[in-house]
Amino acid sequence: MKCKFIFVTGGVVSSLGKGVTSSALGRCLIEHGLHVSMLKLDPYINVDPGTMNPYQHGEVFVTEDGAETDLDLGHYERFLGQDMRKINNVTTGQIYEEVITQERQGHYLGKTVQVIPHITNAIKDRIRKVGQGKEVVITEVGGTVGDIESLPFLEAIRQMKIDHGIENVFYVHVTLIPYLKSSDELKTKPTQHSVGKLREIGIEPNVLVCRTEKSLDLDLREKVALFCNVPVQNIIAAPDVSTIYEVPLTFVDQALDKIVLSTLKLKPKKKTKRWDSWRSMVQKIKFPKNTVQIAIAGKYMELKDSYKSLIEALIHGGIAHETLVQIEYIDVTLPDLWERLKNVSGILVPGGFGDRGIEAKISVVSYARENKIPFLGICLGMQCAVIDYARNVCNLTGAHSTEFNSKTNYPVIDFLPEQKHVKKMGGTMRLGVFPCKIQKNSVAYHAYKQSEIGERHRHRYELNNRYRKILEAQGLQISGEYTPKKLAEIVEIKNHPWFVGVQFHPELKSRPLRPHPLFREFVKAALHYEK
Ligand code: GLN
Repeated sequence: MKCKFIFVTGGVVSSLGKGVTSSALGRCLIEHGLHVSMLKLDPYINVDPGTMNPYQHGEVFVTEDGAETDLDLGHYERFLGQDMRKINNVTTGQIYEEVITQERQGHYLGKTVQVIPHITNAIKDRIRKVGQGKEVVITEVGGTVGDIESLPFLEAIRQMKIDHGIENVFYVHVTLIPYLKSSDELKTKPTQHSVGKLREIGIEPNVLVCRTEKSLDLDLREKVALFCNVPVQNIIAAPDVSTIYEVPLTFVDQALDKIVLSTLKLKPKKKTKRWDSWRSMVQKIKFPKNTVQIAIAGKYMELKDSYKSLIEALIHGGIAHETLVQIEYIDVTLPDLWERLKNVSGILVPGGFGDRGIEAKISVVSYARENKIPFLGICLGMQCAVIDYARNVCNLTGAHSTEFNSKTNYPVIDFLPEQKHVKKMGGTMRLGVFPCKIQKNSVAYHAYKQSEIGERHRHRYELNNRYRKILEAQGLQISGEYTPKKLAEIVEIKNHPWFVGVQFHPELKSRPLRPHPLFREFVKAALHYEK
């Protein structure tokens, strides 16, 4: 099978939603029955984002096979309904690591190793690898055209057209048409410059996706088309929409899918009910029957990107009940915490690292437990639930995780022996999917309706089995377990409407067309609580 390559670049400013654009285009092609895969090229030198802090990078998205990747891979999975893997995210760091390793092995036979062709060849190999067995690969180039860092990636994608031919390569440029209030005008100049920059490198975009606050009229489209050397019907408007899941629909309305199919000579497969389930999902988001308030009590609240998948999973949980989930972003380190918690019908304590705000998070769990407010604790949130239970129900005063107090008398959360001597920080956590066995008489089983599940992990610490008997004797149910190592995966309590802590990250597997069972049930419990 010959693979076609679509490349998505961005211009003018960052944060234009290139990830959503790429994913939405992916969805369009999936609806035509094509086999699509996605690739994100990240220009930074880090081998992966696993060692970066959330302020630098936003969420780290973990794949089934345990790769720590860019958050755009989360969009790819949610829009395409397909699992991504390690190969679907490439960084400059990985490319250089590979080329330098080969150089040390003498692979280049005395040649001078250079950006062109050696780095660009390595990049092209990685793109083609994703294309194996697929009909289309959509590759999103991180950064903005004009950055020094992304030049080798742009050079590589330029060469792809020469290598594979005009019928097999398609370039999408995502750009901004800003609106100037003072003159009440949309301005096209930044887009002209950005496309100019791209053409300087040798890339002629087939399509411009124009992010804009106002609608683009024909005059304006004609102007952009003329100055940027793109057919007018290939100027696609991407106005702000109320839900990102509407973006693919705005693309088909402008026939973006048809333009791609005809340029790349791709034949759509017969498919009945094209878009039916997607459209009905979007309707449920846009016209909800209920509203419910749920708090995320964490510490990166200024930066919503840190909780990207979590926020999406809550939205998906809402879709299952035609409910708008209004998220209260509560920073546990701020004094208004308790005041703000009063108004919510569900409390979620998310994953995290480092001791800032840890005592407040533990108190938030106590509050949810004692006041019988639906509670979902994820990773660190689950660990906080165990600490609260140990301290306040089992009377293990001062119980803690050794991550925060290595001298605690009751280390209820601790390193696994194999984590004790880890020196290398990158890629050494418990990562990726692990099987979990669920007890039948549990809230978790009621949600999943099966006893064998697999969920994705990213952590170093675990519930310490030395304390398991005490915790269980006092009523903490360990309802899910990774049996080969007897590791606690799910904890819950009785005499509470809905209280679940999970050591894994369920949000990573939730999708708009398939809301995650735990989020679906959590939102349901919050709805009941509200009533
Ligand atoms: N810091 C905790 C650990 O490493 C929790 C990590 C997380 O929440 N992802 O175990």
